[in-house]
Amino acid sequence: MNSNKEVTRRRVQNGAHGGSVSGKTAEPAQWGRAWEVDWFSLLSVLALLCTAPFIVFFFVMACDQFQCSVTRPVLELYGGQSTLLSIWSRVPPPTWAAAKIYASWVVFQVGSVFLGGRHFFCSCRNWTNTFCFAVFQVVLYMCVPDILHKVVPGYVGGVQEGARTPAGLVSKYEINGLQCWLLTHALWLANARYFLWFSPTIIFDHWIPLMWCANALGYAVATFAFVKAYWFPTNPQDRKFTGNVFYNYMMGIEFNPRVGQWFDFKLFFNGRPGIVAWTLINLSYAAKQRELYGYVSNSMVLVNVLQGIYVLDFFWNETWYLKTIDICHDHFGWYLGWGDCVWLPYLYTLQGLYLVYHPVHLSAVHAAAVLLLGLAGYYVFRASNHQKDMFRRSQGACRVWGRPASYIECRYRSADGGEHRSKLLTSGFWGLARHFNYTGDLMGSLAYCAACGFGHALPYFYVVYMSVLLVHRCLRDEHRCGSKYGADWKRYTDAVPHRLLPGVF
Ligand code: NDP
Repeated sequence: MNSNKEVTRRRVQNGAHGGSVSGKTAEPAQWGRAWEVDWFSLLSVLALLCTAPFIVFFFVMACDQFQCSVTRPVLELYGGQSTLLSIWSRVPPPTWAAAKIYASWVVFQVGSVFLGGRHFFCSCRNWTNTFCFAVFQVVLYMCVPDILHKVVPGYVGGVQEGARTPAGLVSKYEINGLQCWLLTHALWLANARYFLWFSPTIIFDHWIPLMWCANALGYAVATFAFVKAYWFPTNPQDRKFTGNVFYNYMMGIEFNPRVGQWFDFKLFFNGRPGIVAWTLINLSYAAKQRELYGYVSNSMVLVNVLQGIYVLDFFWNETWYLKTIDICHDHFGWYLGWGDCVWLPYLYTLQGLYLVYHPVHLSAVHAAAVLLLGLAGYYVFRASNHQKDMFRRSQGACRVWGRPASYIECRYRSADGGEHRSKLLTSGFWGLARHFNYTGDLMGSLAYCAACGFGHALPYFYVVYMSVLLVHRCLRDEHRCGSKYGADWKRYTDAVPHRLLPGVF
């Protein structure tokens, strides 16, 4: 038993990517989380499980009850003006209205995964009808595939293959996120402009009751995935058990849990409902600002535009995302399930929420600086990811910044013992730092926060969180690459000595 586990672990640590040296057909293999849990990881998992829901609650409640001040609740508790009970008594409870809105939204998104987004517009006058309508769509359009990739030049959608799993399986995905995003937003705008079935401020108006629903779904999905992994796994060979129940629950057991042939938990929850909702939530905040003050501030426009670009980029490149760490290394557990349902929509949108309470007016210079930083960050993020993608797809035979790409040749062993080769790019953005794509992401994150001015700390949570997330991810990834490429990785880190900022880190 133990020796089996040891062999499997060694296979997982070795893994594969790229062409074969030994002549055997080599397919990319990817690795997920650890097989064994050290004390530090276990304590981190327990701390996250216990605190993450309260962090979300704290920020949302701080805006609702304390005008987005993060110090006032603490000071009032300390000074005795508030108690935990008095804060709790002011928190809006779950409501049926919110439950119906949320259920409609999720079913609508599930429907669009199956349907390829062929939604039809009807004159439903209330959310109960809309709910039935959404269910109706699921049944009616179950097998309609993505059509955008057939009509939009350069867009890669429809049925696509993901990365090969450690067990050697390659899953197929129906990529229709862009279509779903466009149709959802077209429906939203058509409602706001013509149909008026519901107020465009609906999300803000039900924000805390919706949070209870999002939590219910997040926990339900994580628990379902956990039970499913034991009782009816999709690919039993790709499960990982650490022997620690908390770690398994949090980091997931199954690699690619599915229901039926097409409903993939990781792809669905990673992109939808959270990321499709991101831009709708921001639009709802803008509508609320207009309702309250009669205008939409330039800071709110900036947040909507910059985050809108980021979200659209995600869906335009959804096929490319199948090859990123989230999809091809992480297993599906509470971390992804709850995180995508609650953490992402509630904490990635804090800037817009803040601006409803504080409609900041930026000077022309400040607004221009934020826009420039946001666009520069997006450019670095997209261009560096594109350079690596192009480099890997052409196997190094491409030009970067006008010159032939330079790279380090690497060797590694795969699960079947075959020796393989890969290449690590050392020119372009990848010659400046080993994770310059993360640097671009962080520049964009700072721009969203800076759009909110300097009155409060709350909107800056996002850039702090992203820094922690991406630095941790960078270390995690380098640990994996180090064990995969061995001495060749050392040659690469000697050639490109810094991780995020040339000369600094
Ligand atoms: P990367 O796209 O950087 O992928 C890392 C992998 O790329 C490594 O494991 C290695 O894989 C390969 N690689 C590393 N260095 C090189 C090189 N020099 N040349 C060629 N290949 C290399 O990481 P992510 O998947 O984490 O991120 C993708 C994007 O998503 C990033 O821009 C990130 O900022 C963004 N992101 C955003 C999040 C958010 O919440 N907003 C969360 C997470 C990511 P191999 O084994 O193939 O060699």
